[in-house]
Amino acid sequence: MAVSGPVLAADIGGTKMAAGVAEPSGRLITWTQVPTPQDVDSEQLWRTLEALLNQVLDAARIRDVSELAGLGCGCGGPIEWPAGLVSPLNIPAWRAFPLRDRLAERYAGIGVRVHNDAICVAAGEHWRGAGRGWSNVLGMVVSTGVGGGLILGNRLIEGASGNAGHIGHVVVDPEDGPLCVCGGRGCLEAIARGPALVGWAQAEGWRPDQPGMTAKDLSGDAAQGHPIGRAAMRRAGRALGIAIASATNLCDLEVVAVGGGLSQAGAMLFEPLQEALAAHARLDFAREVRVVPAALGQSAGLVGAAALIIAGERYWTGD
Ligand SMILES: [Zn+2]
Repeated sequence: MAVSGPVLAADIGGTKMAAGVAEPSGRLITWTQVPTPQDVDSEQLWRTLEALLNQVLDAARIRDVSELAGLGCGCGGPIEWPAGLVSPLNIPAWRAFPLRDRLAERYAGIGVRVHNDAICVAAGEHWRGAGRGWSNVLGMVVSTGVGGGLILGNRLIEGASGNAGHIGHVVVDPEDGPLCVCGGRGCLEAIARGPALVGWAQAEGWRPDQPGMTAKDLSGDAAQGHPIGRAAMRRAGRALGIAIASATNLCDLEVVAVGGGLSQAGAMLFEPLQEALAAHARLDFAREVRVVPAALGQSAGLVGAAALIIAGERYWTGD
């Protein structure tokens, strides 16, 4: 069924919270973001989100919630899907917080859908970004964590619990890789997430005594030719290439769209990625996969959250 009204969208992560209003075409009429408040309780965090949503409704001159076709929301995982209870790893204030119910109560009368934020990025990139026009797409976010969402045959794949596409925990180095927050060893995320890269580089001698260094600082130094920075980017790129090769062999992917802060490192990251991919994706069908930077940038999560409502027949199979 075609959606006619605008859609309210939210994207909640450990670093930032964003909200916007999208037209049925997916174009954002207005959007804004704030840093995610730290050291607050669950109700203070909720009020920040509510204020942000009301701010974009005002900006879009929507006075009555009944003008909306629905509300789509992406949130850092893990979440209970489709119930929308959220316990984001990087937002300790919310543990089993009933986000979907609270949104449905606050904005009564419209449909509310909540999904994993990386899945929303994948849906956004497939619907309106780098994966547009392709049927089999992996959307990835390489940032504080490494997340992903899988679209096969033009439909979002949920898996049994809504967690299909978790490429961050595909194992790329089970023998010598670092421990992962999930409890395993050698997951892609344990190697390629920003803080892990910074930790590795500092152990190798990059700015060893400077606290608060970020992956952005590291990639900045790498761009200036710092050898440890370059090595860190190679290490991340190689791990990404290995994981993407495995995912491609498993799912017969056409396009992999890589977003998130680290993806802006450009050739320093993508060249070793392509080398590792070429070394490990050897079957004819797998060699065809294209790995490209995500196209929607910071708004991908909001566009994907809107897609949960506007293109729900492809991107939503929950109740
Ligand atoms: Zn893991």
